[in-house]
Amino acid sequence: MVAEVKPSPNYGERKDGRRPDMIVLHYTGMPGASAALELLCAPGSGVSAHYFVFEDGRIIQLVPENRRAWHAGASCWAGETDINSCSIGIEIANPGHDYGYPDFPKRQIAAVTALCRGIQTRNTIPPVRVLAHSDVAPARKQDPGEKFPWRTLHESGVGHWVKPAPIVEGGPLLALGDRGDDVTAIQEQLGEYGYAIPVSGNYDSVMHDVVAAFQRHFRPERVDGVGDASTRATLRDLLATRGRVKTISARARDLGRLAS
Ligand SMILES: [Zn+2]
Repeated sequence: MVAEVKPSPNYGERKDGRRPDMIVLHYTGMPGASAALELLCAPGSGVSAHYFVFEDGRIIQLVPENRRAWHAGASCWAGETDINSCSIGIEIANPGHDYGYPDFPKRQIAAVTALCRGIQTRNTIPPVRVLAHSDVAPARKQDPGEKFPWRTLHESGVGHWVKPAPIVEGGPLLALGDRGDDVTAIQEQLGEYGYAIPVSGNYDSVMHDVVAAFQRHFRPERVDGVGDASTRATLRDLLATRGRVKTISARARDLGRLAS
């Protein structure tokens, strides 16, 4: 599946021998794919990823899976802050929001999906830990963004996803400046899912960014950082279903048990 190996010098060892149990998806955010690939392999650039996926679906491996690539930066998920030590990073060639943000071509998405499935067979990656860079760094990052077809990946056994609750105009909204128990409840639920968010009861800029990140991944029809009824219902749905989705390796173990 990997067309080519182009070793990047930008990696280290995973902390305490941590085994990867997360996939973080990125877009390159640069006008040209080749320039992005060069940067990820340039000595001294300080950035890398395990894999790079071109628009035409070609996959390049830059860093071995058991090494710690430098793709996540200052990030947090489920209380863990060294995301590079626990994750495998995939850079998907797309110019991003600053350069017109084109759709992801079908061939590219098929390649990303196949790559993730392969990673899932070599590592134990729970579906809820296939994430966007924006999920683990909501204040800094938007990638891979609201055009990324998480549903398509989910239908191929990659990641956790539920059909978003429909947007109802005129419903109750929570937004910047609001405070109270309803805000606290959403903060607790976002935190329970894995997002890094203080439970303060204040709808502050941190909360706005986290809700926007949540929407980019799970309710992409409208990304505005507003806690509307659709966003809240989608979050509740995700929490209710996340335990039911088994990892591919858990499914394989079950099948093995049935067979023996
Ligand atoms: Zn990124």
